[in-house]
Amino acid sequence: MQREDEFHIAVLAGDGIGEEIMAAGIAVLEAARSRTGGFSLAFDHLPGGAGLYRDTGEALSAQNYRRAGEADAILFGAMGLPDVRYADGTEPAPQLDLRFGYELYAGVRPVRAYPGAPLALADARAADIDLVIIRESTEGLFASRGKGIVEDDALARDTMVITRSVCERLFDFAFDLARRRRQRGRPGRVTCVDKSNVFASMAFFRKIFDERAARFPDIAADHHYVDATALDLVRKPWEFDVLVMENMYGDILSDLAAALVGGMGMAASADIGDAHGLFQPAHGSAPDIAGKGVANPLAMILSAAMMLEWLGHRHDARACRDAAVAIEDAVAGALAGGGALPRDLGGSADTAAVTRAVLDRLA
Ligand code: ATP
Repeated sequence: MQREDEFHIAVLAGDGIGEEIMAAGIAVLEAARSRTGGFSLAFDHLPGGAGLYRDTGEALSAQNYRRAGEADAILFGAMGLPDVRYADGTEPAPQLDLRFGYELYAGVRPVRAYPGAPLALADARAADIDLVIIRESTEGLFASRGKGIVEDDALARDTMVITRSVCERLFDFAFDLARRRRQRGRPGRVTCVDKSNVFASMAFFRKIFDERAARFPDIAADHHYVDATALDLVRKPWEFDVLVMENMYGDILSDLAAALVGGMGMAASADIGDAHGLFQPAHGSAPDIAGKGVANPLAMILSAAMMLEWLGHRHDARACRDAAVAIEDAVAGALAGGGALPRDLGGSADTAAVTRAVLDRLA
């Protein structure tokens, strides 16, 4: 029988730099765990990804899909290879299958300026950037994945789907997150990003947002059109706290926002549902640098910290939450120290050196 403080983690390293960054992530998780004590982690390594699809015709077996669902959390590296495609040109993407299958509706993408990491904006206030994009991850325009239609080589159609049941849970998640962030000194505000002036689906999205906002009177709620949000993410991103949006808008704006604070190598992410959580850096498998030992492992390491934070919150396990904070502090310390800046952030440290710098601060 599983002890309350032992968590089973399904690990899918995936393709490209996946193995390299996953090794870093697991080393850091183990170091944080032995520092705080109070819980243990059992890792179940599962094959999956575009390479597996190329070799076996399956990107993730049904058995391993089930095993991932039985774990307490799923930790993902990176998936996809440029030359491996289904017949219709789309990519094998087990992470999307898991997101849809396990109803991981809340895609959480923190965007935070770490001292020492390069900022895209010269304005001194860019050092205060600390926002979270919540990207709905099971419907929206991505509901059309695999169902788009091309008629007579003359017309193509994809359809946006917004449902009340997903939106209600998504907005509650966003307000709850804003409330927890406020305890850490953030403003406590959720911005609904939409295009309600044009699309019925987006007007519906905003209407449900307003309904749920009324249930969180202590948290400020406002709206912003998606195009204006793109502008303001460049003009004054330090003014945002939590932003919640449809799947495709979140796909685009979270990459834009990542560029503000160092790029994809810093972009941690989590896909959360009511019963499951999947944690994965937002970047791809970076085949151009795979196997060279130079990938930035920080997005992976910070995603692993998000996993501990989520497990700690879900299971009321204080030690897990403490370990998550210890990892974030160690990353901040490693970057501020200056000696371990990875190459994509303008430094010269390779994967091993960056990982060592984080581990040193956890020791
Ligand atoms: P996907 O479509 O799967 O998200 P992508 O085509 O957007 O992938 P990525 O794999 O994210 O591409 O890589 C984009 C660029 O960013 C590449 O040049 C890659 O080398 C670089 N990159 C991505 N992740 C990292 C990382 N962790 N460390 C260093 N460079 C990275």
